[in-house]
Amino acid sequence: MKSGEMKSKFFSHSRLSAFEQCKLKYKFRYIDKIIPEMEKTIESHLGKVVHSTLEWLYRQIKNGFVPTVDEVIFYYSKAWKEEYEEGIPIIKKGLDSEHYFNKGVQFLINYYTEHKPFDDNTIDVEKEIELSLDDTGEYKIRGFIDRLAMNPKTGEYEVHDYKTSGNFPSNEDIENDRQLALYAIGIKEIYGKEKDVKLIWHYLSFNKKIHSKRTDEQLENLKKETLKLIKEIEATKNFEPTKSSLCHWCEYKPICPAWGNKPPERQTELGDF
Ligand code: SF4
Repeated sequence: MKSGEMKSKFFSHSRLSAFEQCKLKYKFRYIDKIIPEMEKTIESHLGKVVHSTLEWLYRQIKNGFVPTVDEVIFYYSKAWKEEYEEGIPIIKKGLDSEHYFNKGVQFLINYYTEHKPFDDNTIDVEKEIELSLDDTGEYKIRGFIDRLAMNPKTGEYEVHDYKTSGNFPSNEDIENDRQLALYAIGIKEIYGKEKDVKLIWHYLSFNKKIHSKRTDEQLENLKKETLKLIKEIEATKNFEPTKSSLCHWCEYKPICPAWGNKPPERQTELGDF
């Protein structure tokens, strides 16, 4: 970097979400950079392996080869085993890893059946996106789009996102979704402000696809709101815990004082909970 050049600060949607969920979790992960003993839960393992399988599928298709559904499931099974770590927590009572493995198989079979022959002109998978929230480029968002397609007839770009969670979103959730809307800004920065961008969520647990769009005005407002949130993060001195049902899936619960556990020694500035 040349002297006098500004160093950009990068944020991601998941980083912002961590702060919104629990400031202490944010501090553990992004300030103290504590590596938890177990980063995964069975749900995150399932999500990761389903995502990597769909990434593999579309990479094959881009190379001119359409795998069979059996080949897709074979890839998934192999990735599931290779990435599985002994002791992955299964929070929901009465369920085992086989239950989650089978869920993934079903997601992929349904997705494959619904989308074959995969002719929606996918142009990239796991596409890295970067966008500026301000005119100076000081604050930037970086993320990865699960899949980017472009409709050659309309010239419209499609940002595809795969969801493996068992919660179906409300209309309000979709209208307020920040992640894909931020990626739409990034797409417009790359391909042109006038381009239309469609946001598409694949809720695999429900075998349902949801579409939405944002106006340019909404995207401008989103930039402002996101910047405001980042300034709030930067101004935060007291990283209080927020206890909720989501704590059961938090990788820092074993060191969280809100659950009566002992944080590492250097967490001296934490208050009483
Ligand atoms: S367990 Fe809950 S309160 Fe503690 S850091 Fe995680 S999310 Fe925050």
